[in-house]
Amino acid sequence: MGRTVLITGASRGIGEAMARLFAKNGDNVVINYLHSKERAESLAEEIGGMAICADVSQRNEVDAMLRQARRRFGGIDVLINNAGVAEQALFSDISEEMWDRMFAVDVKGVFNCTQAALPDMIHKKSGRIINISSMWGEVGASCEVHYSAAKAAVIGMTKALAKELAPSGICVNCIAPGVISTEMNSGFDSETMQFLTEETPLGRLGETADVANAAYFLASDGAGFITGQVLGVNGGFVI
Ligand code: NAP
Repeated sequence: MGRTVLITGASRGIGEAMARLFAKNGDNVVINYLHSKERAESLAEEIGGMAICADVSQRNEVDAMLRQARRRFGGIDVLINNAGVAEQALFSDISEEMWDRMFAVDVKGVFNCTQAALPDMIHKKSGRIINISSMWGEVGASCEVHYSAAKAAVIGMTKALAKELAPSGICVNCIAPGVISTEMNSGFDSETMQFLTEETPLGRLGETADVANAAYFLASDGAGFITGQVLGVNGGFVI
C-alpha cells in the first residue's frame, strides 16, 4: 500500500512483529529503537525499512526522528505508539525516579510522538494512531501500580484525542494486550507464567503476531469507522 508507518519500540517484541507485518504488505516502515541498534538495523535491512534511534521520552530526539523519517518516506500515515517499559515493585518501593521514568516513556512518549507526527495527518486529513496500552491499564495489576497507571493514562489519551481528531479524519485507537510472549515478561519465573497461562481463558499466552494482526486491522481501510476504542487482545483474560 506504500503508507509510511512509524512504529516506536520496533527493535524487538510486539513492535518487531508489527514492523514485519506492515512491511510484508508493502508499507514503508520506520523502526524506532533506543538500545537495540543491531537488531533494529538488521530488521530494517531485512524488511526494507529504516531504523532510527530516539528515546521517545525526549522531545528533541523525537523531532529529529520525524525529520529523518519524512526525508526518506514522506509524511507519517500511521503512527503506532508501542515503545514501553514495565517494572514490578511493591507500591511502597516505587521511588520517585521509577515513577517519573515510567511516565516519561509510557505516557510522555505517546504525547511526544503523537504531537510530532500529527501535522502530517492533519495536512492530509487522514491518518491512524494506534496506542499500545495493556489490560493492566484497564483492571490494574498488583506490584505494577506505576505501569498500570501509565497504561490507564494511555487509554484516556486515546479517547480524548479520538474526539479531538475525528473532524480531521484521523482515527485514534488503543490495543490492550494481555500476556504476550516477549522479553518484557522474561523476568517472571516459570510458575508465574504457568499461572498467567491458566488465568487466560484461551489457555495460552499471546504471540506478538496476535497484537500485530490487531494493529494491522486498525490501520486498514476497513477500520475507518472505528475510533476511540480499546481493543483487548488478551485471550479472554479481561472482558
Ligand atoms: P519489549 O520486548 O520489552 O520491547 C520494548 C520495545 O520498546 C523495545 O523495542 C525497546 O527498544 C523499546 N523502548 C523502550 N524504551 C524506549 C524508549 N524510551 N524510546 C524508544 N524505544 C523504547 O516489550 P513488548 O512486550 O514488545 O511491549 C511492547 C508494548 O506492548 C509496550 O508498550 C508494552 O507495555 C505493551 N504490552 C506488552 C505486554 C506483554 O505481555 N509483552 C502486555 C501488555 C502490553 P530498545 O530495545 O531498542 O531499547
